[in-house]
Amino acid sequence: MIPYGRHEITQADVDTVIDVLQNQFLTQGAQVPGFEKTVADYCGVAHGVAVNSATSALHIACLALGLGKGDWLWTSPLTFVASANCGLYCGAQVDFVDIDSKTYNMCPVKLEQKLVEAEKQGRLPKVVVPVHLRGEPCDMAAIAALAQRFGFKVIEDASHAIGGRYGTQKIGACQHSDITVFSFHPVKIVTTAEGGMAMTNDDDLAQRMGLFRSHGITRDPALMTKPSEGAWYYQQIELGYNYRLTDLQAALGISQMQRLDDIVAQRHLLADRYDKTLADMPLTLPQRGKTAYSGLHLYPVRLQLDQIDVSHREVFDRLRSSGIGVNLHYIPVHTQPYYQGMGFKVGDFPEAEKYYAEAITLPLFPTLTPKEQAEVVAALKTAITA
Ligand SMILES: *Cc1c(COP(=O)(O)O)cnc(C)c1O
Repeated sequence: MIPYGRHEITQADVDTVIDVLQNQFLTQGAQVPGFEKTVADYCGVAHGVAVNSATSALHIACLALGLGKGDWLWTSPLTFVASANCGLYCGAQVDFVDIDSKTYNMCPVKLEQKLVEAEKQGRLPKVVVPVHLRGEPCDMAAIAALAQRFGFKVIEDASHAIGGRYGTQKIGACQHSDITVFSFHPVKIVTTAEGGMAMTNDDDLAQRMGLFRSHGITRDPALMTKPSEGAWYYQQIELGYNYRLTDLQAALGISQMQRLDDIVAQRHLLADRYDKTLADMPLTLPQRGKTAYSGLHLYPVRLQLDQIDVSHREVFDRLRSSGIGVNLHYIPVHTQPYYQGMGFKVGDFPEAEKYYAEAITLPLFPTLTPKEQAEVVAALKTAITA
C-alpha cells in the first residue's frame, strides 16, 4: 500500500536521538529550548512554546488568550476535530464559518457576514481559528482586518503549513495573528513522533502558555506572590497541565528542521507533477495562491461527479483495493455525532459538506518515487472509469 503520508527518519535523526538518550536529560534538559529557538528563528517570531501535540498547543493558546465560559470560538468546519475541541476544553462554545469553494479555507466574506450578525446578537467570538488546510495559507490579511474591527483574537492552526510562506513572511511569524500552532505528528511535514508548538510575538502570551504547559508552576521570582523560601521553591499560580515535550522528541525535531525547506520543495515538485498528469481528468485540482507558498501537507482532488459514472465511495474503495492509501480530509466537524449533539445539523455548512462528498487525498510525501506517483495516477484513471 502506498500511504497518503509517510515520515522520513534519516541516520542523522537517529544519531541525534541516541546521543540524547545516552548522554543528556530525557526531559526538561537543553533540547526543548533548543527546538523552540530553532523553530522560532526559522519562522522569524519571538517565542515558541513546545508541547506534546498541536492539540495541547491549541488548548494552551486558548487558555492564554483567556477563553472561557460564556465565550465563543469560531473555526472552519473542514478541519481535524482538534481545531474546534480546544474551545470546548475551555468551557467556551464553538461555531463554524463555512469554507471558500476554491481555497477550501475559512471564507473571509462569510466570516464578515457572520460577524455582522453576531454583533447584533451580542455573541461575537473571542477567538477565531483559521486553519491553513493542505498547507495553503488562509487570507490572513482579511481575517486580521476583521479581528481589528470586531475585536477578536486569532490563533492560526498551521498544523499543515510549517515551511510555507504568506507574502514575504514565514507561516508562524504571527504577522496577522496572536498565536500560530504547528503539529509534529508523523503524517505532518516534520515530526517529533507526537508534538506541537505554539508561536507568538507576545511576551506575556508566551509566558502564560509556558505556565499552562507545566501545571501552572513557576520558578520565576517575578511571578511569585511572595519571596522564595529557598532553592527548592516554586509556586503554582494557574491551573495547568503536563503537556511537556521530551528532550528525545525535541532533538528529533531539531534534526528534522534542518531538512524542512528541502522537504517542502520536494512536496512542491510532486504536486507540480500531479498538476500536469491529472490535468485532463474529470477532477478539480487543488489550487495554490500566487502570493503564498504552501506547506503542501495534502494534495486533495475533487471528483467532478457529473462527469463520471462512478460514485465517490466507489472511486475511493477502488483506489484502496489497488494499493493506493488514499484518505479523506476531513469529515466536516459539525457532522460528527458529538457536535450534532450540540445542535449542529447536516446542511449547516454546505460548501464543507460538498467538499466532503467529492474529495480524495492522494499520497504526497517526500520519498514518494516517480514510479509510485505514476501508479497513483494510473490507478485513479482506472478508478474513475465506469
Ligand atoms: C493534525 C492536526 C491537529 C492535531 O495535531 P496533533 O499534533 O495530532 O495534536 C490539529 N489541527 C489540524 C488541522 C491537524 O491536521
